[in-house]
Amino acid sequence: PDTTGTDVFEDRESVVRSYCRNWPVVFDRASGAEQVTEDGDRYLDFFSGAGALNYGHNHPALKTALLDYLSEDRVVHSLDMFTVAKRDFLRAFEETVLRPRGLDYRVQLPGPTGTNAVETALKIARKATGRTDVVSFTNAFHGMTLGSLAVTGNSMKRAGAGTPLYHSSTAPYDDYLDGSTPDFAWLERVWADGGSGLALPAAVIVETVQGEGGLNAARPEWLRALADLCARFGVLLIVDDVQAGCGRTGRFFSFEEAGIVPDIVCLSKSLSGLGLPFSVTLLKPELDLWEPGEHNGTFRGFNPAFVTATAALREFWSDDTFAAQVRERGAQLRTGLEQISARVPGSAYRGRGLLAGLRFEDPTLAGRVATEAFDQHLLVETSGADSEVVKVMPPLTVTAAELQRGLDILDRSVRSVLA
Ligand code: PMP
Repeated sequence: PDTTGTDVFEDRESVVRSYCRNWPVVFDRASGAEQVTEDGDRYLDFFSGAGALNYGHNHPALKTALLDYLSEDRVVHSLDMFTVAKRDFLRAFEETVLRPRGLDYRVQLPGPTGTNAVETALKIARKATGRTDVVSFTNAFHGMTLGSLAVTGNSMKRAGAGTPLYHSSTAPYDDYLDGSTPDFAWLERVWADGGSGLALPAAVIVETVQGEGGLNAARPEWLRALADLCARFGVLLIVDDVQAGCGRTGRFFSFEEAGIVPDIVCLSKSLSGLGLPFSVTLLKPELDLWEPGEHNGTFRGFNPAFVTATAALREFWSDDTFAAQVRERGAQLRTGLEQISARVPGSAYRGRGLLAGLRFEDPTLAGRVATEAFDQHLLVETSGADSEVVKVMPPLTVTAAELQRGLDILDRSVRSVLA
């Protein structure tokens, strides 16, 4: 049998796979911002595992921490037992993330994926308030399981599952305001009017930048108005920072810039640093209302992920140096994308920090640009309900020169598509 190529994927793997449609090569090795195919072709990776590889592929400090841990026969799997690796992680999280920001959250370990963190947030919000509805936003993405899908605003992804999944309601995200002053008076009136048919919800779940939904970035004042409304009605505010968190927007938490303190925060993707599955749900202490065993799972304590997460926090988040560098690269990315967009009528910069992209009025352009970029050995994905945005998501460790190289390829790709 052929031991290279894609035959076994075509014959054996479920057709649900998606990324390989755009990138029909077989990847093998990877380092920093680069992925290499089995044939030795090098690709600049500005996809970063959809945000799971903020520190690039195989960062030496993280890799060494994991190899050392395994070579010493330390505990790999332990459900939710106490382990040294878990203790080290909790301490590192407290010292590098929570304490410097004056935040007080209980850290729940809900399982390996972002979706697990979201499901946990939805459940505890309903338990804590005794209410059922959760308000989410247009174009939101929160996961693919039945609960998280119920708050995901993407009709294609919901269609096959049979909705409504549970009582949830959708509100317009900030981009629908077209820049006008944030105003939640309409929602306030609905919530105050118990007989409206739209019951007071348990929670509102929101992304500060919609990673999958077209890189819409909420304005800080919109987020503050939302947080204020929730606080006045005792509705819990859940920030899903699965994709925008862990430094993507230039702060560890994407909501820091707005100066809000959510009741519940979901983190996953880049939390383990090396790309190992890991998530946390952060709960204000008064919301940690679980009965022991009420919400469990086999993979709640994956020690290798604790080890690499601890290494990442100590390496990158002991002070603001790294975050400041991310903000600088974010500004470079914005300038580069705006220069490209200036030449393409109907295109616009979207996003914040290193979670950014170019939106095209003609949605077919975005896909064609991404395909052309692949041909020029740059990996970028599309985002948005109509795949109308080219999403540029380099690792946060990207050098200024690498970022410029990627922008140059994008520029050439846009020119070639429009030629
Ligand atoms: N929330 C957000 C904001 C996400 O971007 C994603 C993944 N794209 C998820 C939740 C779900 O995470 P996972 O794919 O790890 O289940």
